[in-house]
Amino acid sequence: MHENSTPHEVLRWAHTEFGPDLVVTVSFADPVLAHLANEAVPGIEIVLIDTGYLFAETSWYADDLRRRFGLNLRTVHPHPDVERDVWQTDTDACCAARKVEPLERTLAGKRAWVSGLRRSDGASRANTPVVQDDLLRRVVKVNPIARWTDHDVDSYAAAHRLPAHPLTDRGYPSIGCWPCTRPSSADDPRGGRWSGSEKTECGLHVSGGELVGVRRTTGSTS
Ligand code: SF4
Repeated sequence: MHENSTPHEVLRWAHTEFGPDLVVTVSFADPVLAHLANEAVPGIEIVLIDTGYLFAETSWYADDLRRRFGLNLRTVHPHPDVERDVWQTDTDACCAARKVEPLERTLAGKRAWVSGLRRSDGASRANTPVVQDDLLRRVVKVNPIARWTDHDVDSYAAAHRLPAHPLTDRGYPSIGCWPCTRPSSADDPRGGRWSGSEKTECGLHVSGGELVGVRRTTGSTS
């Protein structure tokens, strides 16, 4: 579904289909999805999940892009009483409390979620559809740039004169939380995430998804 549509077309379709029940999340590892969404649907709310362990550069960069492009940015945080420094002993539990729970709170009562997943991110994302069911969260998941290569992203950023994340040219092709992100090669962009462990995903993008072909009503998965 929408396999041959441009990201702008996909985003406009999603906004028409789901209206205020659409949530756009970005990580600000790069500026592209936030800029695309704001171009396709000016003023659309863009959500950043701040785990409490973002690089200082990411927080600065998000604010810089907000100012430059007038983004309607909302930052979501973990619960204030969440246990600290769990990443030192249990990264799955830390991601569950600091990424997954805030996302699920943000998606509560919504019908669709836009993410910046791309097939070229790595093997675990190689089959990402443009539109899929997130069966776990009972929403339609929309991945407008799923088909884009690194070249497509770079070309879009250059064409729109978008600044890069300050860590990009310091060897970080993929940027998450500072305790769990190391520099890596461009050939394996997510290789620096949880390096030295078997973990490759934080749990946000585990959905058991499938292509969708039916219109949703709130809370429905069929
Ligand atoms: S990426 Fe690391 S610091 Fe961030 S939520 Fe997951 S385990 Fe915690």
